Amino acid sequence: MTEQLLQGLHHITATVGNAREDYAFYTRVLGLRLVKQTVNFDFPQVYHLYYGDEAGDPGTIFTTFPYQGQGIRRGLPGPGQVVISGFSIPQGSLDFWRRRLETHGFGASQVERFGQKALRVLDPSGLLLELTEVSDDHRTPWTTTEITPTEAIRGLHHVVVSVRDLAPSIAFFTEYLGFTVQAEQGSYTRLALPGMSSGQFLELRHEPGEAPGRQGMGTVHHVAWRVADDAQLLALREHLLQLPGLQPTEIKDRNYFHSVYCRMVEGVLFEFATIPPGFTVDETTDQLGTALQLPPWEEANRPTITSLLPPLF
Ligand code: ZN
Repeated sequence: MTEQLLQGLHHITATVGNAREDYAFYTRVLGLRLVKQTVNFDFPQVYHLYYGDEAGDPGTIFTTFPYQGQGIRRGLPGPGQVVISGFSIPQGSLDFWRRRLETHGFGASQVERFGQKALRVLDPSGLLLELTEVSDDHRTPWTTTEITPTEAIRGLHHVVVSVRDLAPSIAFFTEYLGFTVQAEQGSYTRLALPGMSSGQFLELRHEPGEAPGRQGMGTVHHVAWRVADDAQLLALREHLLQLPGLQPTEIKDRNYFHSVYCRMVEGVLFEFATIPPGFTVDETTDQLGTALQLPPWEEANRPTITSLLPPLF
């Protein structure tokens, strides 16, 4: 790729179970802001919930499809999937988070990787998250009465993708998408986009003997990387089309961003999403997340959709 199109993470999207538990965990326990209540555009009887900072800036967004009651089987994390979603927390806040998670019934364990301490916790649907302590993440966090700027999550920090063949995966991401190898530790290889800071890390976990992961409840569905605008998205799609074996989708209108999806090496599903227009296209920053927003083509179905969705709070 001659021009660096990827800037960093845009969002992570997971298939989860119960909507109310999901909402309670990500907002009340982790302290993220619900920045959008909408529906899965491909399956509108299921919510699409977006959590992030005040404005839902790309790079802070974690999104879920709460599929409980829809007959979706449990997934199995494994090769070809994002197996860990990483958020950044301020240096020195790890003990606060351990106590807080335990108070709310979520046991956390401590790990250390690439010289950074992190807490591991399973969310209510069994998704593995890491809260990684960093000293150089200067993004302004969303705060609550219980979580001050001294502790608050800054945004996404990394994703871990499990792969069975490490060398071809490293070659793929470095040659085609502009990542460089930053460090290796045990089965983990950390790749980074040029800024090499929070939200720009893609870690590969080498698991040669594992069976491929299976999509379903409790697994990450896809990870999205941000590009500046529609022109950059188009350029990226052209680039992907020229690479052997890749089949990027058409550009899709996701209302809050425009996207291309493409399966990468080992089948991991990546999305490439524009930074504009953002979450204020249908409600003001103050109002974000307070009411169900439907894409224009679903407005006529609002009464039916509303009757099918469980209350969030
Ligand atoms: Zn997405």
